Order: sequence, then C-alpha cells, then structure tokens
Amino acid sequence: MIGPRERAAVADVLNGTVLVHGPRAVAFERAFEEWAGGGHAVAVGSCTAGLHLLNVELGLGPGDEVIVPAQTHVATAHAVEFTGAKPVFVDADVDTGNLDVDALADAITERTRAIVPVHFLGLPVDMDRIGEIASRHGLSVFEDAALAVGTRQRGVHAGLLGGAGVFSFYPVKHFTTGEGGMILTQDPKLAARLAKRRAFGVDRTVEKRDVPGHYDVTMLGYNYRMNELAAALGVEQLRRVPQFLERRRANFTALAEALAGVDDIRILATGGDSETHTSSHYCLSVVLSNELASARNTIVEAIGECGVGTSIYYPRPVPHMTYYRDKYGYSSASFPNAARISNRSIALPVGPHLDLNDMQYVAASLTAAIAKVR
Ligand SMILES: *Cc1c(COP(=O)(O)O)cnc(C)c1O
Repeated sequence: MIGPRERAAVADVLNGTVLVHGPRAVAFERAFEEWAGGGHAVAVGSCTAGLHLLNVELGLGPGDEVIVPAQTHVATAHAVEFTGAKPVFVDADVDTGNLDVDALADAITERTRAIVPVHFLGLPVDMDRIGEIASRHGLSVFEDAALAVGTRQRGVHAGLLGGAGVFSFYPVKHFTTGEGGMILTQDPKLAARLAKRRAFGVDRTVEKRDVPGHYDVTMLGYNYRMNELAAALGVEQLRRVPQFLERRRANFTALAEALAGVDDIRILATGGDSETHTSSHYCLSVVLSNELASARNTIVEAIGECGVGTSIYYPRPVPHMTYYRDKYGYSSASFPNAARISNRSIALPVGPHLDLNDMQYVAASLTAAIAKVR
C-alpha cells in the first residue's frame, strides 16, 4: 500500500538536506488535525512513546494507579509501568471486546489517577460514560487510539473525546510511516509541553536559536521525535485514508454478510456503526463457540494454507502475560471475558489491499476450515 506518491515524497527528503526537525513533521501534524476535524497534533516515534509522554505529563510515579483494559496491546500497560505507576486492569465486554464500563467503577481506588481506554479494533468505547465516571472521581482520560484512525463518536474523532489520544502508524495499522505515532489533544498548552518533552525538553526549536547549537533544557525529555522520512510517508498516506476507510467498511460489511449463516461463530462488534458510533473497521474478529474453541489453532492453520493471513487481537489478556502475571500475581482464571476473546478469536483481514471478491474467498476459506474440524 506504499504508492508512487509516497515513494517520491520519501525520495525528496533523501535528496534534500533535512532529515529531522523539518517541515514534513509539521505538515503531517497540521494535516492530521485537519483530518480529525480539530485539536493539536504532536508527531512522535510510536504510539507507545506518545502514551508514555502523556503518563509523564500526569506526573505519575510509584503509588499511583492507572486503569487500562485487560484486552489490549501490552503497550497500553507498559506505558504506565515506565513511570513506576501500576496499571490496574479491567475485564472486557464480551460482545464488543471493549473495556466493560460497568466494571470500571469497582477498579477505582484513592490511588487512581487516570483511565486509558482503548477503542478495541476501532470500535468506539463509550467515552460518555467513561468521561462521567472520570469527572466524578477527578481522573484524567487518555485514549489509546492506536486502531482508531476514523473512529468517531457522534462525529467527533477519537483523540478528541477525552484529554488526549494517541494513534499508531506501525505497518499493520490503518496507515503507516514505517514506525510512528501521533498525539491529538484539544489542549494547546499540553500539546506545547508534549512537543518539548518529545525532544529532550529543549526550550527552543532549531529555527528559534539565535546562535546555532545554543539552547537550554527546561524539563526531563526523551528522544521521541518523528523523522522527516516517516513524516513524508505519513503526509502522503493520510491523503488516501478516506478511500482506505471506505474499502475497510465495504469489506467488513461483505465479510460479515458472507459469514452470517455459519454456525458456531460470533462476529465481534458487528454493530460497529450506528447513528452515533463509527468504527474504523480494523479487522473482522470471529469468536468460536464452545464446539469449536479447542480447534482454533487448527482452523487458523487451514485458513493459512488457503493463503489468507490472520491474526489474534490480542494473544493473551495483558495481565496473563508473564511479566504482569509474575509481577502482580494474576491468576489465569482472572479476566474471563478478555481470556475468552484471546483464546477463541480469529482476526480476519478487511484492509484496503483486499476487495469484495477477496472477502468471498476469506469467508469460503473459513467455512471450509470449520467443516474440516467438525
Ligand atoms: C499497535 C498498538 C499499540 C502500539 O503502537 P506502536 O506504534 O507500535 O507503539 C498500542 N496500543 C494498541 C491498542 C495497539 O494496537
């Protein structure tokens, strides 16, 4: 999905004189704000780096707690761990895979500082209810919007639904910069601090230095910048995002229809789209029934033999990953809904590299694989 315009834009950077701290990263930020319909964008080296910066801005440290979903990428929790604070996990809603908002209030303690919900597979989590709970307890809300390019609630884009949100441009996400991420926030002061903190905490940008190489450092910062090669790729990829999303929606709808009559599978969060909620249709995840659950890996293998690439979102609930289990002592019986999704689901591709005929092929491959294990 890297086209001629992307290649030309990257070649331009290579033929020029500026590889970092240049106009492309700034242009990408402005273009992303325009795409999202508002906010202040800060380009970073990855979604993980952006999440870390937000947690640093909260001044988190040992003794603090941040609520995160059990069913997410490990980065959501790691970004809390980096600060010495403790991630507190909340189980998934079994129908959508999103954080179970009903279970959220039970996880809040005197030490809770923030909630970091994830729009699971691009389906918007109920940000209204999360916002209400957060404001009742005086907590910050940051969206892990890694899979949420195009995710909207009542027309408002992810990243603008809480205090800030972070997107990922890792190759398998909605569009790519190789590696990269973007923080989006409504708060211009926060954006300015994040822009400093992603570049060592230096007090002035390269253009603002009277004497070349002369600057002061006013905060503890990181090297979490996005380079010009990545940003050039991002600017060109972003132009294609409306078509990418349209294709994803059409593919998702066609695949869901083609699988509608198949017994013993359930499509996770089919109700992605409604009057108020717009999904980014990251993938179509099917959850196998009791009958088929133990055959999941055999089914995956059979689909793979048909040439269909699949994945699992996510392979284990984060608190069941060895690092978290060993550190905090979670049992494998905890977070049963998240575990059910991890153990029984197969994520099928609906990306813009595929068309409606491919969806028929994917559906036929899954149907045949299921027939084989019956
Ligand atoms: C992919 C992903 C991340 C990590 O993104 P990077 O850009 O690779 O750091 C974080 N959270 C979620 C939900 C993801 O899917």
